[in-house]
Amino acid sequence: MPLSEFDLIERYFRGCGAKRADVRVGVGDDAAIIDFPAGVELVAAVDTLVAGVHFPPGSPAASIGHRALAVNLSDLAAMGARPAWALLALTLPEADESWLSEFAAGMAALARAHDVALVGGDTTSGPLCVTVQLLGHVPRSAALLRSGGRAGDALFVSGTPGDAAAGLGIEQGRLPGVGKSAMYLRERFLYPTPRLALGERLRNYASACIDVSDGLLGDAGKLARASGCGAQIAYEEVPVSEALLDAVGEEGARKLALTGGDDYELCFSVRPAHVGRLLAELPPERWGYARIGTLRETSGADVLRGGAVMSFSYSGYDHFSPPDATSHNT
Ligand code: ADP
Ligand code: MG
Repeated sequence: MPLSEFDLIERYFRGCGAKRADVRVGVGDDAAIIDFPAGVELVAAVDTLVAGVHFPPGSPAASIGHRALAVNLSDLAAMGARPAWALLALTLPEADESWLSEFAAGMAALARAHDVALVGGDTTSGPLCVTVQLLGHVPRSAALLRSGGRAGDALFVSGTPGDAAAGLGIEQGRLPGVGKSAMYLRERFLYPTPRLALGERLRNYASACIDVSDGLLGDAGKLARASGCGAQIAYEEVPVSEALLDAVGEEGARKLALTGGDDYELCFSVRPAHVGRLLAELPPERWGYARIGTLRETSGADVLRGGAVMSFSYSGYDHFSPPDATSHNT
């Protein structure tokens, strides 16, 4: 017998994620009620994943559940915020129980890891589309913004960007999918790690922050533009993983790291006077980030390679377009 909408919600989404004492009314009534803490500001984000646009059709259901939440967690990480409550608007072609249970498990595991409770949502039928709204909080006036940088600030990125773009290439059959490196890269696309602990800690150090979803160069450019300045990135300093080097070679790896999408890493700027404290108190090798460049007066975002400037316009990625993979926007 086909699952009713009511049964589907009860079975897969009531109690999904963390149990939080501040959720007075969660899934099951007409709206959720949250006992909102004092002294903080609400931080809200929403992102939609459309089948065939943001993930290949036939992606593992657990990955779709994970990514739908991860992309929003990454937005809150970039604000230095702590996530707490999520709403899920789910459009499904059919109520396939094994798909639903994997999808819900993928989302629930990541939600529990970050103490996020699913407090409500909406379920409709139609082409597969997943929207998650995420609510969280940050101490009053403490949020990290894109706009706080200024010329002279040091520019950093977390993790090893480019891995996810290569992973997507593998998923789509454009890059070979065998071997340990390929497996790792595929996981980086299917199960990205939003940098929440780093984001919260960066409130004490960073002048500006953005999450890298559309490519490091473009997103660093967005941070710089919001800050009323430009950015200069040192090609040789862009961190790349061993797996990415193994899969596409050094040239390909740096290109994917600069222009590939779906990384969900943090790109942030730090005043020169605070860099020493940052490096001492949040050791880069432990926290997983690297200095990649500097904010400068001149607008735009350039990559410096061996002393020569390679410039890119925001739409001019073809100068540097990755050989074997394409990025897309989230
Ligand atoms: P209404 O018709 O009043 O909007 P629904 O039947 O759509 O109510 O939803 C009933 C309850 O289930 C609500 O609490 C709603 O937030 C929740 N809900 C519906 N779909 C989902 C979902 N996909 N995930 C989580 N909660 C959901
Ligand atoms: Mg409804």
